Formats: sequence, C-alpha cells, structure tokens
Amino acid sequence: MAVYSNNPIPMTKPDYQPYQNSEDMKFICIGRNYAEHAKELGNEVPDEPVIFIKPKSALLQTNSPFYYPEFTNELHYECEVVLRISKNGKYLQERTASKYYDAISVGIDFTARDIQAELKKKGLPWEKAKAWDNSAVLGKWAPIPANFDKNNVQFSMKKNGELVQTGHTKDMIHNFDKIIAHVSNYFSLNIGDVIFTGTPAGVGECVVGDELEGFLGNDSMFKLTIQ
Ligand code: MG
Repeated sequence: MAVYSNNPIPMTKPDYQPYQNSEDMKFICIGRNYAEHAKELGNEVPDEPVIFIKPKSALLQTNSPFYYPEFTNELHYECEVVLRISKNGKYLQERTASKYYDAISVGIDFTARDIQAELKKKGLPWEKAKAWDNSAVLGKWAPIPANFDKNNVQFSMKKNGELVQTGHTKDMIHNFDKIIAHVSNYFSLNIGDVIFTGTPAGVGECVVGDELEGFLGNDSMFKLTIQ
C-alpha cells in the first residue's frame, strides 16, 4: 500500500529541536474529528469539535522512557497531527487562523480506554483517562512551508513495524482553521501551546514491548517503545 508515497510537506533534514514548548503550555485536544473513528468507538459524529485539555505535565519529555501506567489495563494509542501555536490569540477568525501556528508534527494522545469507558458511562470528565503524566507524545517539529496545503497532509503510525493507522487531513470533520477559531472562543491560545487535531480510525491497544513509530508523509517523526 503506497501510503507513504505522497509526502505533502517538503521537509529537508530537520534543523529544529524536537520539543520547543514554552515554560508554560497546554495541549488542546480534539475528539471525534474523523467520522470513521467516531464510528469505530460507537460515538455520534458531533456538529462541533469535542474538546479536552491536557496539562503540561502530560508531555513525555524528549528521550524519556514511556512506562505503561499502572492504573489501566487497556492502553490505547491515538496517532494525530499536532500543531504548534506560535502567536497569542483569542476569539480568532478562521480566515486568519493559519497565522497562529508555525510547525506541524504527529503525536500520540495516549488514552486509558477502560477508564474512559467508565467515565463516559457516568457522564464524567475524561481527565483520568486522557490527561495523565506522559500521555502526550510529540514528534519532532517540521516548520510550516510557505505553500502549505492544510487539506493535504498524510500521516500514519506503525506498531512493531506494521501499519496500524493512516490518516489524511482532507478527511477531518473540522479542519485546522476551524479548530483554532473554535477553541479560541473558550481558551486563550498562547505561544507554545499544542493542538492535537484528532485521530483517524485504527486506534488500538498496546502493551509493554510494543514499538510505536509515527510518520508525517514519509518522514519518521517519533519512535518509542512501551516499557
Ligand atoms: Mg485523540
């Protein structure tokens, strides 16, 4: 399957650091942004973006090991395109939203699916399932090129060398600009914040020893082994 054949982002050898987050930052995460993924978890496709936040303590630091959390028995990966916010803003318009991010990558929104299922059943917030320490993995950043086509970004993830998720931003229900405009009505966007733009279908379980590798186009952006 030629899923890596079209690299939409002309990336040369990266000359940027993998993690350039501000001292103070947050992750703004979008749920159910791909219809096929909403269906696979038995969720309705929402009219407006589903939003949740991970705090800075959720960031898995560069080169730190990822340990399987003791509080879950069903750890799921969700590979997603991530955007790095480069300008402070609030109440943004879609037409100017693209000026507010300067780099793109892929990351993992790790999820304790068993806990999330319990919380959803009770109608409770998702933080215990989503916002725990090291639950946010970021790949190295690629600068947004001048001719960037936000609707033509292909990404994928392999587990133990096997392709498990592929996505294309043209399949997003809410594109980058819509997401940014919408979330900025509720949360100030600050330099260094990161947006997780939602996962495509193919989420699944992972166990100790699994190796996860995320790709933007053809480029490997992160690789980690669950310990
Ligand atoms: Mg997610």
